[in-house]
Amino acid sequence: AKSQKRSYYQVFQGDMHNEALAELQLENEIRQGLEAEEFILYYQPIINLTNNQLKGFESLIRWNHPQKGIVTPFHFINLAEQTGLIIPIGLWVLKEGCKQLDKWHNHILNSSDNHKTIPIISINLSSQELNSEKFLPTLDNILKETKVNPEYIKLEITESSPIFQEQSTQYILDAIVDRNIQLWIDDFGTGYSSLSYLHRLPINGLKLDRCFVTDIETNQKKAKMIKAILSLAFDLGVEVIIEGVETEKQLEIIQEMGCIWGQGYLFSHPLPPEKAGDILLSSN
Ligand code: C2E
Ligand code: CA
Ligand code: CA
Ligand code: CA
Repeated sequence: AKSQKRSYYQVFQGDMHNEALAELQLENEIRQGLEAEEFILYYQPIINLTNNQLKGFESLIRWNHPQKGIVTPFHFINLAEQTGLIIPIGLWVLKEGCKQLDKWHNHILNSSDNHKTIPIISINLSSQELNSEKFLPTLDNILKETKVNPEYIKLEITESSPIFQEQSTQYILDAIVDRNIQLWIDDFGTGYSSLSYLHRLPINGLKLDRCFVTDIETNQKKAKMIKAILSLAFDLGVEVIIEGVETEKQLEIIQEMGCIWGQGYLFSHPLPPEKAGDILLSSN
């Protein structure tokens, strides 16, 4: 029994060792990837459900890895958060997303076509990035450099972010709003936070997490919750985007409930920039 115990221990230790090594290697690869500009943004359309028109895009990071190809955030975001690399990554995302929006705006405003869609961009922020002293200066630099209209920028912060609980960092949220940038709550309905931030903070919109819509066809309780959230948001003057719409039936149900904004595979997967641009410039 003794020797058996030892071997379990050794196996366990060996696994830990390999895991730690793999993480260290990935961390180095992320660092190098940032340096080599291997990260890119994909863009997923946000749709007006009342007229099927494109409102704009959510930017979603991808890693164009030299060996692995296009890698999704699932494989690197956690480690980036643990190592603090999420800060330089996030600041890059903010810059890149705004630059892309500025390019699209310039193209549309300078073209003779009668484009109606001046797109918005919705950018994901991590809590660490928000708390970085570089965040506001970076934001101001981008606004100055691009002169992009800040009203077309939405910043998404997940509901579970400590920033919604802490008084000491509320000035960052106020600073965002002072710049006429929209503040949106991401993954609404999944956090353990109270709803108090809805009246305390200058929130423009909620992104209702995809878990609500997935089984809306069969789950009466979830359907009722969506209805109640839509009604509460409407009363508070807060907009709602329902995420993760995958089927016609789901679309039909949320349209009937009066939901105005949707996003999901039914409309489009996240797209590389050229494809998103094509869709944008061929819309209406
Ligand atoms: P999120 O912000 O909640 O983004 C929505 C995720 O759902 C995206 O996954 C998107 O591709 C996926 N999705 C969209 N429509 C559907 C659908 O109809 N069905 C299903 N099953 N999934 C759908 P993605 O791109 O893999 O991103 C995962 C998460 O990684 C994001 O969740 C966000 O938390 C994080 N993330 C992505 N880009 C960034 C970024 O630039 N900065 C930061 N800090 N986090 C990011
Ligand atoms: Ca998001
Ligand atoms: Ca500009
Ligand atoms: Ca979300």
